[in-house]
Amino acid sequence: MPYPTQPTASHFVNGAYVEDTAGAEIPVIYPATGEQIALVHEATPAIIEHALNSAKAAQKAWAALSGTERGRILRRAAEMIRERNHDLSVLETYDTGKPMSETLYVDATSGADALEYFGGLAGSLTGEHIQLGDDWVYTRREALGVCIGIGAWNYPTQIACWKGAPALACGNAMVFKPSETTPLCALKVAEILHEAGLPAGLYNVIQGTGAVGAPLVSDPRVDKVSLTGSVPTGRKVYAAAAAGIKNVTMELGGKSPLIIFDDASLEDAVGGAILANFYSSGQVCSNGTRVFVQKGIKEAFLARLHERLSEAVIGDPMDEATNFGPMVSENQMKIVQSYIEKGKADGARLVCGGARLEREGYYLEPTVFADVKDDMIIAREEIFGPVMAVLDFDAEDDAIARANATEFGLSAGVFTSDLTRGHRVIAQLQAGSCFINSYNDAPVEAPFGGSKQSGVGRENSKAAIEHYSQMKSVYVRMGAVDAPF
Ligand code: NAD
Repeated sequence: MPYPTQPTASHFVNGAYVEDTAGAEIPVIYPATGEQIALVHEATPAIIEHALNSAKAAQKAWAALSGTERGRILRRAAEMIRERNHDLSVLETYDTGKPMSETLYVDATSGADALEYFGGLAGSLTGEHIQLGDDWVYTRREALGVCIGIGAWNYPTQIACWKGAPALACGNAMVFKPSETTPLCALKVAEILHEAGLPAGLYNVIQGTGAVGAPLVSDPRVDKVSLTGSVPTGRKVYAAAAAGIKNVTMELGGKSPLIIFDDASLEDAVGGAILANFYSSGQVCSNGTRVFVQKGIKEAFLARLHERLSEAVIGDPMDEATNFGPMVSENQMKIVQSYIEKGKADGARLVCGGARLEREGYYLEPTVFADVKDDMIIAREEIFGPVMAVLDFDAEDDAIARANATEFGLSAGVFTSDLTRGHRVIAQLQAGSCFINSYNDAPVEAPFGGSKQSGVGRENSKAAIEHYSQMKSVYVRMGAVDAPF
């Protein structure tokens, strides 16, 4: 492989890289050229066993350390990630095709933020004391045990850290299965965590498709499953976890609304809509892909949007001037192309884009449809690509009702210069991660996750601690036991 951070084998188990070439081959394709840049092997049953056994064996001693000791290792890993940010960003770009102008700032760095944040929290995780006359109850915050992390392909480093950091901070062990489309980055997270002092077995990475994910989810040694993926996969994984009454976090898909009122700053609204649709070539779960624009500002909005999109620098992701890269895979490009065709067939007005670029790699133009109606497929289904649907509205109530008329509930945004309206509208939108006069900010300090079918549980912030630990309550009697007979 032609880059410096090359992982040396397919899996990382019990503190070391391991290989088992009996597993099916998974080629790793660089989306900007279509070239194969690496090959990993799917985990065999032997590798799955090795990972689960290692995690199970290591977890108790890890949970027995003080939170400060655990946190110190996570914070050391965060520092190492920051020091190696450039190389890790190159790897992220090879894995996903996202341009370096993004990966240098939001991938390894966001992973480091999570390790630093949860490393800092680890020492402050406590129970409470509840006095009941002379008797009392105390609570202990305890680890869950072995956690499974299953990742999507759009943010492979970030997802590996957003799941690993709170899990480890709370005293759990993790077996992480990256997406088969982007298998490389999580291996480096595992390598760095162990170099930072994490004992062997606590963060394992094994490769494979859903065929490897499924037995992990249903294994009786597993206590919790955290998935980032689509709603259909979420349904399957949630059901399988339910059979064992396991804890779950489900970070699933969306079709989020962004409502732009007449009184919004045009420049900010256009900027917000660009961030909500074209960052990472539109491959972001929380994207605001249904852009409701009030009629008074609509034409000005479309004109300025078109102008600014023509300034996008589409090209070689390794060139830091590039700010719009390819789709992650040929398959994803074809899915998005089929949605563009559906938009045209349903009669939406193509304002710009719509075509594949004539160059190697899986590049699509940033695409905007206007005059989109609520019942069109491009307004109802998650596309996961650079396709914005612009819908018109007159009245605030109408926009809110239409924005909520979806089974998804991941994110929502409002642009307005009326402060009370901003808060009033956002309070009525059914979504977990919301924005006023902004879009797609995801600081580690803030809870992130969806409502309705977009998910269960929250990542990041103190809220994540609740999802990676459990409370034991202990009643302590200070006097005689008064039994009835
Ligand atoms: P996907 O649902 O196809 O796959 C997600 C992961 O689940 C992959 O690792 C896959 O191998 C695994 N998987 C598939 N079937 C499984 C099974 N039966 N048991 C266990 N694991 C199984 O999703 P994708 O195409 O990789 O990613 C895109 C989707 O992820 C989009 O819907 C997007 O919105 C969503 N996403 C959500 C968030 C969030 O935080 N809410 C973030 C990023 C992406």
